[in-house]
Amino acid sequence: MSYPESQTSNSAIAFGGALMLTGLAAVVVATGASHDSRTFILGGLLLVGGVVRLTTALAADARRRREHPVDPDDPRWHDGIRVVQLAGKTCVDCGRRIIFGTDGVSCDVCHAPAHVDCAEHHLAQVHGPEVAFPFR
Ligand SMILES: [Zn+2]
Ligand SMILES: [Zn+2]
Repeated sequence: MSYPESQTSNSAIAFGGALMLTGLAAVVVATGASHDSRTFILGGLLLVGGVVRLTTALAADARRRREHPVDPDDPRWHDGIRVVQLAGKTCVDCGRRIIFGTDGVSCDVCHAPAHVDCAEHHLAQVHGPEVAFPFR
């Protein structure tokens, strides 16, 4: 049996859990069928292997989550103070109010408030499509 290294963390966790449960079941069966030492040892090995596999996968998963706590490309995670101040302002693109601060961004070119969804349209309409995406 060989395990591909390219497994996603979720399948690695599921695999480790399944391996651990299989080993646990084998240990229980071996204990019930008294003195079946070979099944007991095999079950114990599976159990330990499953625990190791599971903890390794969980550790890798936790490390990935720590490195990327939020989507770094999400404009709402940048400059929280400026975002809060946009609540109640009128969107420069569609003319409607920005109800929640998290719905708004300010244009880096003209500093006008705009909805997150309207910002790209405003940029293309007012500043031209050649301007690099400045909304953060
Ligand atoms: Zn808008
Ligand atoms: Zn602008």
